[in-house]
Amino acid sequence: MKDKTCVVVGGGIVGLLAAYLAAKKFTKVILIEKSLNAGGLLGSFEFNGALYDYGTHFPSITNIDDLDQILYGTKNERTEKYEHFPYLKSENYFMGEWNLSSPLPSTLSLPREVYAQGIIELLEAPGSNPSELNFEKYLISTFGNTFTTHIYKPILKKLLNEDLGKLDKNVLKVFGIQRLIALTSEVTKDLKSIPKYNDCLGFHSYTDGAPTLPYCYPKGSNGIGFWSDELFKKTLQAGVEIKTSKFVCNIDLNNTKIKSVELNDGSQIKCDLVFWSISPTLALKAAGVKISSIPPKFRSHTLCHFEFEGPFLKLFPQYLLCWDVEMISYRITLYPNITKDKSKLQRYNLTVEVLSDASAETRSQYILEKVLDEIRLMKIVSYDNKVLASKVEYMGNSFPILTVEFIDNLHKMNTQINDNFSNLILLGRGSGGNFFINDLLIDTYNKLQTIAEDYDDR
Ligand SMILES: Cc1cc2nc3c(=O)[nH]c(=O)nc-3n(C[C@H](O)[C@H](O)[C@H](O)COP(=O)(O)OP(=O)(O)OC[C@H]3O[C@@H](n4cnc5c(N)ncnc54)[C@H](O)[C@@H]3O)c2cc1C
Repeated sequence: MKDKTCVVVGGGIVGLLAAYLAAKKFTKVILIEKSLNAGGLLGSFEFNGALYDYGTHFPSITNIDDLDQILYGTKNERTEKYEHFPYLKSENYFMGEWNLSSPLPSTLSLPREVYAQGIIELLEAPGSNPSELNFEKYLISTFGNTFTTHIYKPILKKLLNEDLGKLDKNVLKVFGIQRLIALTSEVTKDLKSIPKYNDCLGFHSYTDGAPTLPYCYPKGSNGIGFWSDELFKKTLQAGVEIKTSKFVCNIDLNNTKIKSVELNDGSQIKCDLVFWSISPTLALKAAGVKISSIPPKFRSHTLCHFEFEGPFLKLFPQYLLCWDVEMISYRITLYPNITKDKSKLQRYNLTVEVLSDASAETRSQYILEKVLDEIRLMKIVSYDNKVLASKVEYMGNSFPILTVEFIDNLHKMNTQINDNFSNLILLGRGSGGNFFINDLLIDTYNKLQTIAEDYDDR
């Protein structure tokens, strides 16, 4: 598209992909990133010589050849640069014990009488009802009252601190707890042939029912940041101008058409099209539009990074989940179990993620100490394994509390964006309900294919 300028706001993996694709169609593409480095939640950082990730670790092959080529290179490059996992090895800690073969909470960890009552209710439950809007009622009709009360209520209270009745059923997908472990492995396999039980019972092992598209992680202890760095380089090579440590303060509108954006350094960028991969609220604010919906609520996200002197007690799982409500730890990533790089000195480092309220910012040191206690108590690391380095990072209010109201407001916000801007296209988590990296990347790829072509005709 000759003489057209496109601005992409947000330099996470979604913004990088959008900018790379836009560069094939627009004369000039400018990417605006608020932080010093691009990559967002798919970035890594070095601390005391070891690499740690910011939050998300495992994208998977998308099965769209062109997109996979952009994201991972040719088939040879993919094999050379990335580890491939047909499934991720995971375990979970719940009610004071480990389930060694699945990330799903196990009903078998409940006291005997509670378990027995729960199983009767689960088998007799009517089954999941997709049109049920009250989440608590949805859970009861899927799993029965006992498992709802003894498993879902406390786990979701720990993670989101919100009334069950207000949540949207998508929270189950976001945390990967759509099903529970119950009965025996063999009985479960038999029952799963009946749709009602397939909806609520999970395979006992992560090796069963695994996805067919492999997960990827950079080889050589490079951290997931290597992946977004590769796309960053490609984006630069494609001619995109990347402005870091910059954000949009003002949007200049002519009716509904964005003419230019003003950055925090006072510079103005004239533009024909804007791709917006950050919160839609910020676009409306920058244009001085009164926001008609209630601001979304988020949980804060704290990362506790540790390096230990020697190996962990858990030698195989790549990540662990802690559903135990007595503990604040949520997800634990064990880097040496993802990539065993013989060419480098073996490091024994891990990251524990904690979801909590915003007061976490002032309690960071306490959180770090509590989490260290927990990983020893859970026997992930032995008491005599010395801490070589530790670091706590408060990532702000970043984890959406997916209530019915949240989703409703997101739709209202999207409508307001469409009503106020004719040349702004939303991408990423704020654009309409997707959360996982792969869904967002595929959505971005599809939007860039079609919207840019439409745009030429305007
Ligand atoms: C705690 C947590 C855990 C998650 N775990 C998983 C998981 O296990 N699996 C999975 O598939 N997905 C997971 N997700 C979702 C996943 O992280 C997102 O799908 C992915 O990060 C989306 O990339 P993005 O580029 O849209 O956003 P981000 O990675 O958030 O990037 C946004 C970028 O925009 C920049 N920015 C922010 N404000 C401005 C501004 N005003 N101006 C300019 N730039 C700005 C930021 O600095 C950042 O670089 C998780 C999300 C969170 C919050």
